[in-house]
Amino acid sequence: METRKIYSRNSHSDDEDDVSDHFQADDDDEILIQTGNEDTTATPSQNSQNIDLEEQSPVFTVRRRRNIQSNADAFESLDYEVCENILERNERTTFSYNLRNFERFKLKKDFARWCVFIQIGVLTALLACTINICIEELSDLKYSFVTDSVATSILGGDLLVPYLYWVGMSIAPVIIGSALVAFVEPVATGSGIAEVKCYLNGVKMPRLVRIKTLFVKSVGVVTSVVGGLAGGKEGPMIHSGAVIASGISQGKSTTFSRDLKYFRYFRDDHEKRDFVLGGAAAGVSAAFGAPIGGLLFSLEEAASFWNQKLIWRTLIASTISAFTLNLVLSAYNGQYNFTYYGLFNLGKFEQITFEYFELPIFMLMGITGGLVGALWISINTKINNFRRRFIKLKIGKVMEAALVAALGVTVAAIMIYTINDCRATPVDPIKHSVKMFCEDNEYNAVAELWFQTPEKTVRSLLHDKPDSHRILTLAVFTSVYFLLSCITFGLSVSLGIFIPTVLVGAAWGRLVAMFLYSFFPEANFLNPGKYALIGAAAHMGGVLRMTISLTVILIEATGVDTTFTFPLILTIIIAKWIGDYFNHGIYDTQIKKNHVPLLHWDPPKNHQRKCASEIMNSPVICFKMRENAGYIYEKLKESKHNGFPIVQDVVGDKRGHGRICGMILRSQLIVMFMNKYFEENRKYWENEVTIHKFRDMYPRYPSIETVKFNPDKANWTINFDLFMNPSITTCNELDSVSKIFGIFRALGIRHMVVVDKKNRVKGIITRKDFLNKSI
Ligand code: ATP
Repeated sequence: METRKIYSRNSHSDDEDDVSDHFQADDDDEILIQTGNEDTTATPSQNSQNIDLEEQSPVFTVRRRRNIQSNADAFESLDYEVCENILERNERTTFSYNLRNFERFKLKKDFARWCVFIQIGVLTALLACTINICIEELSDLKYSFVTDSVATSILGGDLLVPYLYWVGMSIAPVIIGSALVAFVEPVATGSGIAEVKCYLNGVKMPRLVRIKTLFVKSVGVVTSVVGGLAGGKEGPMIHSGAVIASGISQGKSTTFSRDLKYFRYFRDDHEKRDFVLGGAAAGVSAAFGAPIGGLLFSLEEAASFWNQKLIWRTLIASTISAFTLNLVLSAYNGQYNFTYYGLFNLGKFEQITFEYFELPIFMLMGITGGLVGALWISINTKINNFRRRFIKLKIGKVMEAALVAALGVTVAAIMIYTINDCRATPVDPIKHSVKMFCEDNEYNAVAELWFQTPEKTVRSLLHDKPDSHRILTLAVFTSVYFLLSCITFGLSVSLGIFIPTVLVGAAWGRLVAMFLYSFFPEANFLNPGKYALIGAAAHMGGVLRMTISLTVILIEATGVDTTFTFPLILTIIIAKWIGDYFNHGIYDTQIKKNHVPLLHWDPPKNHQRKCASEIMNSPVICFKMRENAGYIYEKLKESKHNGFPIVQDVVGDKRGHGRICGMILRSQLIVMFMNKYFEENRKYWENEVTIHKFRDMYPRYPSIETVKFNPDKANWTINFDLFMNPSITTCNELDSVSKIFGIFRALGIRHMVVVDKKNRVKGIITRKDFLNKSI
């Protein structure tokens, strides 16, 4: 039975709007599938149904495969491999004539690279400070207004007015932020970590690193946090760092149509991706005040390709970011003792120790974290599936966000009103402590949990005195916040998941200590702050599934003794193992749901015994070394492929079996057509063509449909000698898929040509071929 796909995407053009709303609204596109004689129309939103039906009929299995394939086709790859064609070599050899010149050029480029990494650190931190200050000031305004209103209204016994103020002051900013995300830039939804992870893995994520996205993300995160949604600003900082890095390193902005013409030598995927990696690390560092955590986060979660110099540069960016943030925030708060380590200031622990008999308790908490985390992911995924199917209108998404904000306030108000948890006012009360129905020298402990930003609540849970809350208060708060965070992650707002995760974990961790303490009042080791930290680690391990970076981030952010590393890592690893048994971590779940062709650490299980010929695509569209321009133009229009092998020794018209000698990319061909680089007029352009002609158009190339080609020149010739990449990676038909997968990951290549013993083309493999056959 013959199968044919009709692609939903338009063309290959980079960063353009052809793949819209990829992570949020991939279900909106309709994909036509023709299987043999059967015509099927399916939308990706039907995937879930198809998955259920898969068990029943092979026809549905085929349909589901096609759906997943089509969704994956919406994504293109980045080229991590440097195209070492003659133009690129000319750039190097121009300088090689004079070794001193060459050294100077290299030095200049290296110096520029370091400068860019330093700028990334500084600018990411400055943005983080701006976001932080806006959030602090606006939240202060909001909560002081609401608490004042509570204080005056409580005397008359009518709390409706403060409640309405609270609702109004929560939904107004949320509507602004959500409308920005829904109508202006949907890529700014959520934390952006999953998208950055895909980008660094080698998948092109449209509009991910644009200035417009950064603007929407920054405003969006301020409005969401001020609106009191269950989320934080930390995750979005990672995305923001990535955008800043991309912007600075390219010296041009698509949004403002400005090209400053500097750093032109950094205009390729390879260089850009390294900077984006530095930006992501600087973002983590600013968010958590954890420079080494930032580096490790990039290493563990994001990057696929590393080298020693990149590690150094990334560390510099993240260290400078943490330092700048500390400097600026300390100065802003009038304290010059560098106490503002990061946005997520967990407060430093005095020395915390543990007893050996506590380890089983920590392990049990790790198991609980894994189970609860897996449950959280599963509920959140179901809610998001529901959203995809039923909330498609942009206005509907904004209304939903406003509704969730109002729901959060309502639940909090009910809790404050109904749970009577009065505590003696501490020497250092929170800024907006509320008395409600408590005595004069008391405050309402429930209101304390709600009337501040979630970061401050986490700090309270970690550092408050043992008797600061009742068990009932914390139990209800944990359940409510757990559900609220489940509903919130996936809304059309910019918001991260770290804070609610830490908050829920710290709350139930503290609850464990309080519970145990009620049975063993003599047990002095039951420090609630310590258990709150372990609970936070367990819950984060269960939801995020990051082990190394998470441990280091927690150590750096709380300043705990390194001896406490062991319980932390033990808890996080157990939580991860348990969680992994049930589902993927939240970021991988998002990635999988959207069928992004991500290359994980290992090849898919069902590939491990296969060889190249079993997954390759054949026949391959190839071009001869000197090819007819009309033929190339037609093939570019007919197909959607981005890479075409260049062959020699073609027998008859069988280009697909020629002897491989290089590779040309669609983007290069488009530049060649635009500049009319034909053999017939070579004398006019040969001396002027440089690699910059190609770099200047990076990263957005027009589609072939918009490139004018005079039919009179259909018989003219294109000679690929100057332009093709001659040093491409090939493999043999019988090479194992595991080996090929390893090469894809290690070198970050986009296409691999499969050849026979005589170097004749047999097939081609791209990252999507690993996905296709893995279903
Ligand atoms: P990418 O989208 O990853 O940037 P691409 O567009 O060139 O690269 P894919 O979309 O990944 O290629 O490929 C889709 C399918 O087409 C894969 O099965 C791949 O093997 C195949 N393919 C890619 N290039 C060619 C080609 N020149 N001729 C024939 N098949 C190809």
